Amino acid sequence: MNKVYLKRKISPRVANGHPWIFNNEVEKIEGDVQGGDVVEVLDHDKKFIGKGYINPKSQILVRLLTRTRTDEINDQYFIEQISKCWEYRKRIGYTENCRLVFGEADSLPQLIIDKFNDYFVIQTLALGIDVWKTAIVNALNTIFQPHGIYERNDVPVRELEGLPQQKGFLSASFDTKIIINENGLKFHVDVENGQKTGYFLDQQDNRRAIQHIVKGADVLGAFTYTGTFEIHAAQYGAKSVLGLDISENAVAQANRNAELNGVQDRCRFETANAFDVLKQWGKDGRQYDVVMLDPPAFTKSRETIQKAITGYKEINLRGMKLVKPGGFLVTSSCTNLVNPELFLQTIEMAAKDVRRKIRQVTFQTQSSDHPIIWGMDNTQYLKFLIVQVQ
Ligand code: SAH
Repeated sequence: MNKVYLKRKISPRVANGHPWIFNNEVEKIEGDVQGGDVVEVLDHDKKFIGKGYINPKSQILVRLLTRTRTDEINDQYFIEQISKCWEYRKRIGYTENCRLVFGEADSLPQLIIDKFNDYFVIQTLALGIDVWKTAIVNALNTIFQPHGIYERNDVPVRELEGLPQQKGFLSASFDTKIIINENGLKFHVDVENGQKTGYFLDQQDNRRAIQHIVKGADVLGAFTYTGTFEIHAAQYGAKSVLGLDISENAVAQANRNAELNGVQDRCRFETANAFDVLKQWGKDGRQYDVVMLDPPAFTKSRETIQKAITGYKEINLRGMKLVKPGGFLVTSSCTNLVNPELFLQTIEMAAKDVRRKIRQVTFQTQSSDHPIIWGMDNTQYLKFLIVQVQ
């Protein structure tokens, strides 16, 4: 096996467990490596560190798969690893739907697999994992005997790895509009044309957190996508629920989801730009008992963090203005570049600007099928906050 030797003086990141090895940390590469090959990584003193896949075209030269010398990376390895991922999800309480594989946090870098009951959606976001796609599909077939597997590799980040954007079936074709169960409700999921893998499983635990505050409430939800939080609110006893999204497709699906759950009498969805509408309604003096916000990541790069913070502050400020005294703001941020502390500071700034006092009800992260590895910053990305607005 080809070998990659690290420089003597590098940050302790790799030694401390991080799976990425950057170009500038490498002293020399032994052998004729091709992008996507599995290589052995050794430190300056030739001590074994691990095995991983290499892509000389990427700034992250190697992503480690294992630190056990005897592990052989082959088809069987993927069956074992993905089985472990499933055992773990079951152990922490997931039965039907879960993020089965969460990339680096499951020691399968850049591999995402979402399980929607008997259907699976996969993303292979780096060359070195993409070459194992057949093995991964084979592992899913062996472990689950699924009804269908779909590839959602229509993601720009693949191009940095020299990979094309593509989507399609990795099993016999099936109707890609499926229905899943969550917290006793049903949701249409479009695995072919929905956002990301079709559904945001990362909020599935958080959706339960609104249970008590929405009882008898008039609720406004913005950035609703397919209406999951809003339909939960209706089910938990809200008096009226209005959900907004800029995407017509999302709104149409949200309305179908309301009907699917028989809550369409008190839960409806409209197409709108939340920034404009919330500003206008603030001026009009509209008031809600609960306002929920779940905007998209306003940034994907460090250079534009400030812009993202301005966006989060602005939308939360507009949302808070619409909350009746004593009501609640439910607010999220899904970019790992804004860390939890910075997010809370941003909400605090928004509260100061609108001269409202807030108190924290709960502060959570992504659902626990997306494990967090300390020291691997990008494994913790979601912030979910409920505050009472006085
Ligand atoms: N809460 C959802 C996920 C929201 S994803 C869930 O749990 O499933 C973010 C959503 O914001 C997307 O559906 C996107 O279409 C929408 N969006 C983006 N910009 C918007 C804007 N300016 N106004 C309203 N919606 C917007």
